[in-house]
Amino acid sequence: MTYSASLLPDLIKAVADTIEANADEVTALDQAIGDGDHVINLQRGITALLSQAEELSLLDWPGAWQKIGMTLMSTMGGASGSLFGTLFIAMSKASHQHALDRQGFAEIVNEAVNAVKKRGRAEAGEKTMLDVLVPVAEALTAASAVTDLSEVLKKLVEAAETGVESTRDMIATKGRASFLEERSRGHIDAGAKTSQLMISAVIDQLLKVA
Ligand code: ADP
Ligand code: MG
Repeated sequence: MTYSASLLPDLIKAVADTIEANADEVTALDQAIGDGDHVINLQRGITALLSQAEELSLLDWPGAWQKIGMTLMSTMGGASGSLFGTLFIAMSKASHQHALDRQGFAEIVNEAVNAVKKRGRAEAGEKTMLDVLVPVAEALTAASAVTDLSEVLKKLVEAAETGVESTRDMIATKGRASFLEERSRGHIDAGAKTSQLMISAVIDQLLKVA
């Protein structure tokens, strides 16, 4: 793989910064159709990761993904804690079956997103983080033959942006927002928004070292 886990301190910092910069906006989204705690939950996980950053940077990717997932599971709380935790733990698990090249990484991400679907008993189209994670995973698969890495990364940013915007007009059928039924329409989903922000922040960082 082009990138090593020694990048993790910079990646985690970039994620922390984007969530901090957008905290008020995301909290307003979660207040509109959820209970308003999504940023607090997420920042609890990110703070824990920041304190482990050096340790994580010494691991290989499967080891780092496993540790990140366990940390998010045990520190975050909320529906999103177990789902983001599941994502990374499943990436680690899948990485034992696939090479860490572009195609293998696409398989790893797709298997991990499937694990999130299973854990949340949800699919894309239900106004959740999956409306970002699924299109990004699909875009990664679709781009596995593209040789220019920065072109691939930009496609993933676009998929995440289109995905988060798509949640605005959806009716939520999973999570707290589903209690609002038709009234959940008109607001972007908070977990989709933080997923998009984090994916874009990680990719911006990767583009700097590509
Ligand atoms: P909680 O809903 O328990 O308060 P958070 O506020 O931290 O947890 O996270 C809410 C986000 O979690 C939602 O915006 C949505 O993106 C995501 N989410 C909730 N339930 C599910 C589910 N079943 N499948 C996928 N994502 C979900
Ligand atoms: Mg919440």
